[in-house]
Amino acid sequence: MDFNSYALHGGSTLEIESLIEDVGFNLLRLAVIRLPSDVKEALQKAYEAETSEAGRVNLKAILTNIEFAEKLNTPICQDTGTIIFYVKAGGKAQGLDKVEAALREATKRATTEVPLRPNAVDPFTRKNSGDNTGRFIPYINWDITDGDSVEITALPKGGGSENVCALGMITPGEGVKGLKKFVLDAVIRAGAKPCPPNILGVAVGGGADIAMKTAKKALLRPLNQSNPNPELARLEKELYEAANSTGIGPMGLGGKFTVLGVNVEYAHRHPASYPVAVAFQCWAARRATAWINADRTVEYLTHEVR
Ligand code: SF4
Repeated sequence: MDFNSYALHGGSTLEIESLIEDVGFNLLRLAVIRLPSDVKEALQKAYEAETSEAGRVNLKAILTNIEFAEKLNTPICQDTGTIIFYVKAGGKAQGLDKVEAALREATKRATTEVPLRPNAVDPFTRKNSGDNTGRFIPYINWDITDGDSVEITALPKGGGSENVCALGMITPGEGVKGLKKFVLDAVIRAGAKPCPPNILGVAVGGGADIAMKTAKKALLRPLNQSNPNPELARLEKELYEAANSTGIGPMGLGGKFTVLGVNVEYAHRHPASYPVAVAFQCWAARRATAWINADRTVEYLTHEVR
């Protein structure tokens, strides 16, 4: 089926729950089939600048894979991830009580129609739900904001990169030096496992939970946007260069590009705590965002939907 069949422009006459479900479905479909342009550009630039033969071969294979997925309307990777949504809801938006149920339905539908690999397994019985839903899955992160529109982002998160995410409670005395060491150690330990070149979401501060949630959310920032704080932008560059000096390279087979970017965020911390979280994202850095306006028009922000 063509993307155009799903494009929703102009005021919709759908019930709000059906509209949110359609948008959630579209976002999952867009995310798993087409990478956002900033990621594609970063991969292309890495290919052009890579000097290792193995690195170039792997980046070329990744770029060809991306091209075929778009042509054939098929997911870019067999692992279509654990389904995570970020919802920024205007306090005056309609239908907020319907969002969770609608996104759950969207996930089930996408599993059958895109299709997505069923990736939701009960940790105790090992039973796969078969439709990518389960307890807390799809996971929905909420932000309540001003206004009457709703922004929804889908982030299907691959298992290989998830498995090497790292959380450390370093001592406050170690400070930024300790943070840098922790991040670099995590990259070296991860090696080829997270399907490099990766994007790193790094967060410091808060508590253990806040740091990891913030690190993962940092993956939503496009690669061509540095942190607006110049000191944090410098830290991002330093971590990027340090990670790329490891020589792990594309798919772990050696080369200059172990990471495509590093996004750093922070939260205030307890004086006695210094949590550092590193969320790894693989080269298949899938995300898609749309706005549902109060008049029920829909705008897709990360992808062109003709
Ligand atoms: S880590 Fe990413 S690229 Fe690797 S298999 Fe999983 S989803 Fe695919």
